[in-house]
Amino acid sequence: MKKPTVETICVQGGYRPKNGEPRQVPIVQSTTFKYDTGEDMGKLFDLEASGYFYTRLQNPTNDAVAAKIAEMEGGTAAMLTSSGQAANFYAVFNIASCGDHVISCSSIYGGTFNLFSVTMKKMGIDFTFLSPDASEEELDAAFRPNTKAVFGETIANPALRVLDIEKFARAAHRHGVPLIVDNTFATPVNCRPFEWGADIVTHSTTKYMDGHGSGVGGCIVDSGKFDWSRYPDRFAGLCTPDESYHGVTYVERFGIGGAFITKATAQLMRDFGSIQSPQNAFLLNMGLESLHVRMKRHCENGQAVAEFLANDPRVSWVSYCGLPTDRDYTLAQKYLPNGSCGVVSFGVKGGRAAAEAFMRNLKIAAIETHVADARTCCLHPASTTHRQMNDEELLAAGVSPDLVRFSCGLESAEDLIADIDQALAAVNV
Ligand SMILES: *Cc1c(COP(=O)(O)O)cnc(C)c1O
Repeated sequence: MKKPTVETICVQGGYRPKNGEPRQVPIVQSTTFKYDTGEDMGKLFDLEASGYFYTRLQNPTNDAVAAKIAEMEGGTAAMLTSSGQAANFYAVFNIASCGDHVISCSSIYGGTFNLFSVTMKKMGIDFTFLSPDASEEELDAAFRPNTKAVFGETIANPALRVLDIEKFARAAHRHGVPLIVDNTFATPVNCRPFEWGADIVTHSTTKYMDGHGSGVGGCIVDSGKFDWSRYPDRFAGLCTPDESYHGVTYVERFGIGGAFITKATAQLMRDFGSIQSPQNAFLLNMGLESLHVRMKRHCENGQAVAEFLANDPRVSWVSYCGLPTDRDYTLAQKYLPNGSCGVVSFGVKGGRAAAEAFMRNLKIAAIETHVADARTCCLHPASTTHRQMNDEELLAAGVSPDLVRFSCGLESAEDLIADIDQALAAVNV
């Protein structure tokens, strides 16, 4: 039989019960696991046998859900984390440490920008931020001998720029480093970055994957394609013995398909402990089961709302890569042929104050620090999520002071448009 489509994997991937086992993924609500002998457990500690001993490292519920996401992305291994922030931190910190350098697309989520430019900088990791429009030459010029990775978002939150994954992957690979792509907004239903050359994918599962605003979470997936062993000095953490973990050499023991996630689990999860609770993993799996159905509706609503806004004189600009007039339309046709996401960014004429008045007058859409939810919500990033940025940084991230991020939920497009229409009318009074 041919490989199942992402739709079927959404419903049935990861967990395959045997005869008489529960149909639904069981919530293994246990911190620890029992063994008959210390020797049995010792083999697990030495990573000689696979199994469970403590939920901070691994839990069967989390593993089943991570396996589903790995299948959806077409990767070889995955791990859940407590949040999208933890996923991006682990993904980068797993290969970059004090004294290293990372190149990031400048058009990224505000929380990730802060993590990179402030917190990880304090840890001694230097970041260079480049425009999504950077040329191959500009990309090449940013690499240093200590560069360990390139990072970008498939669809940037909230600027909605579409990453030219192949361009960034080519640059990364020319310089012998992996491309890490945060695929939160597109989800593997609409884009699978590994098919375009990305090596590691991260997610804030808090968004569309959960989809119902019920649990904060994250995920890291490895494509299994980046050959760390070609650069043993650059990726010494994966290619030389880990003295903190019984001298295991991850690439040798787990191969290029398993090394990255095993190291992130055995080292980073062990030491930082940002686990997703099995209860939240269960909820996440419920979200994944309908992700392919929901994404279609989110995209239809996004397209309808964007088209309405584009034709409305009370709106100064609209950013949605499904609009033929959008600067990233061509990239979206290539990377997101079935739709992008339900998030539309736009400016209300009259600037910051008008944007705030518009939001106050909405009846169906709620003001929330959230996005990609079943319920429509909106946000003014300049006064909330991105408030730590100065104007220059805001513009580099593609966030203007009048930007409203409008996340179309699963309601009817007709009602969402009527709500926007009356809120815009109230601004003009
Ligand atoms: C929300 C978000 C994050 C952070 O995820 P949390 O689950 O809130 O920690 C990272 N990247 C993107 C693109 C996001 O939208």
